[in-house]
Amino acid sequence: MTETDVKICVSHVRKTFTRGHRFTKVLDDISFSIQAGEFVAILGPSGCGKSTLLNMVAGLESCEEGSIVVNEYHTNQPERHRMMMFQEAALFPWYNVLGNVVYGLRFKKGLTNAERKTIASYYLHIVGLDHFERAYIHELSGGMKQRVALARALAPNPQILLMDEPFSALDALTCEQLYRDVQKIWNMQHKTILLVTHNVREAIVLTQRVIVLSRRPGKILKDFPIQLSYPRSVHDVSVSELANELTNVLHEKDNAEDCASCT
Ligand code: ADP
Ligand code: MG
Repeated sequence: MTETDVKICVSHVRKTFTRGHRFTKVLDDISFSIQAGEFVAILGPSGCGKSTLLNMVAGLESCEEGSIVVNEYHTNQPERHRMMMFQEAALFPWYNVLGNVVYGLRFKKGLTNAERKTIASYYLHIVGLDHFERAYIHELSGGMKQRVALARALAPNPQILLMDEPFSALDALTCEQLYRDVQKIWNMQHKTILLVTHNVREAIVLTQRVIVLSRRPGKILKDFPIQLSYPRSVHDVSVSELANELTNVLHEKDNAEDCASCT
């Protein structure tokens, strides 16, 4: 890997939140690099600091110790080449579906309104919402809303997509459909994607590498390559086998801590 191939470089990052006299140590000595075009998951239990880490990569949260370098620059503010997707789609109810995706293109300079609409339509087609451009947000299911959010994040053609548990509020069948779409999109565009999730199978089905974090304060337990070919399904035997392996990594650490606290 040459230096220019590295999109995101996280080095010895630690984070403690302070409120009055209360200190919450959230992340402990986190280091990893992500190459251009890699699709990587940060997997860990709730509260272990995944969102905090992603927000730091996004430039939304400060990095008090260590450094995060994205595209060879230190991150200290959000930028347009990094787009985020959250658990809640956060769409505007007063715009229709097309209007919401066009809104994501407002910072793209040199485009006419007609060009913005053409780009937005293209991404709505990619996420399978061709026929819903004129629909309003209250007319959509949860899965459709996340598809709109995905189209809105992709439309400005960001170099990096940061996803914070974007599927965790959806039912299992809807998730499976979205997993297929996201795999298809990654195969088409090979964007650099960092996905935060607490769902072991989701991490395996979607990504090429899973970075497993311990309970808070989050430490890296394992950096796990996923060498299965796409398309992948949560029902694949190979996915189940890897899921067992990764779940054991998470539980081994818990057991070790339980034993330590007994002594
Ligand atoms: P995860 O995304 O893995 O569930 P978070 O990164 O959201 O975890 O939070 C990790 C821990 O940091 C939690 O205990 C949470 O309460 C705490 N935390 C997150 N943000 C703040 C904040 N702004 N101020 C104080 N504590 C916070
Ligand atoms: Mg979170």
